[in-house]
Amino acid sequence: MSVKVPFNALTLGEDAADITAAIDRVVASGWFVLGPEVEAFEREFAAASRVPHVVGVGNGTDAIFLILRALGIGIGDEVITPPLSAAFSALGILMAGARPVFADVDPERLTLDPRAAEAAITPRTRAIMPVHLYGQAADMPAFEAMAARHNLALVEDAAQSQLATANGRAIGTFGVAAATSFYPTKNLGALGDGGAVLTTDANLAVRVARLRNGGQSTRFHHDDAGVNTRLDELQAAILRARLRYLPAWTRRRRAIGARYRAALANAAVRVPKELDAGHVYHLFPVLTGQRDRFQSHMRAAGVETLIHYPIPIPRQPALQASSPAVCPVADRVCTEVVSLPMYPGLSDEAAGTVAAAAATFRP
Ligand SMILES: *Cc1c(COP(=O)(O)O)cnc(C)c1O
Repeated sequence: MSVKVPFNALTLGEDAADITAAIDRVVASGWFVLGPEVEAFEREFAAASRVPHVVGVGNGTDAIFLILRALGIGIGDEVITPPLSAAFSALGILMAGARPVFADVDPERLTLDPRAAEAAITPRTRAIMPVHLYGQAADMPAFEAMAARHNLALVEDAAQSQLATANGRAIGTFGVAAATSFYPTKNLGALGDGGAVLTTDANLAVRVARLRNGGQSTRFHHDDAGVNTRLDELQAAILRARLRYLPAWTRRRRAIGARYRAALANAAVRVPKELDAGHVYHLFPVLTGQRDRFQSHMRAAGVETLIHYPIPIPRQPALQASSPAVCPVADRVCTEVVSLPMYPGLSDEAAGTVAAAAATFRP
């Protein structure tokens, strides 16, 4: 069966000419690392995100690691995080030397369950890191109150939630800082790797900016044992070009999401609820106990699907030693969840094909 609707389309679209111009500008400038493009992107992305400070880094995993390092969280410390996410969420915690402690997800929202997270707090807990999974914010008012109650740092994994809000408030402003990723498939994607730290704390921004560049305070003066994880000028220029499209692309994702919801209102597959209008629809997951058959049915209609995520993070061999976890909800979701195509370049016709195919699935 030929593919009519691919799961994603990463070739350039309406942004092609702007991206070519951005690349040409950087190449002509002869300045490739930590220069005017990164500075301008940091300013522009901060304004678009309604967060005061942004520091561009090499990728989203490093952004998580750098936030924890800048907070002095490392060996012997615990960070509470969900089992349902990209494994990179927990790997960023491991990179800092800390131990990821997995608390189950909420069955409706599919993000970290505040009650499970609170029950996982121990004297070693230093931070809670919810993930705004699939583009929808975690229950941030609950986590904000919990972090204050227990004197813990609240760190947001915002890799899937650029421009999202929680109760109308910008994500990245609830916690001490948020990590985001510009991996090509994210809502704002680079043509390669990239990431950023968003924060309301000016001092934390300075510390992260130093740590990303070898710990240098000024050139050749290494005050901290930092790392090398800089956003480069080419990617920053590309991201600046794409940032101008991001509000419209986000509206398009929401429109496709609304269409899928309407088509699947009485379908055999379950659709997680939209619990916050600030949802930015990074992915569109549905749930079914007959996932293999659902994927075959979609494939027969020419529609590609993918699974986010097939394995709970604590069940990954790389994480098993760090934290045995009891997470029955995540265990079940990982056997039932499957993502439909969701990207701004998806045409009305293609979205209709996806919706019709998913709606006619009979388990
Ligand atoms: C993509 C992603 C990351 C990792 O970002 P990279 O830029 O690939 O390192 C972390 N957390 C979540 C939730 C992600 O989706």
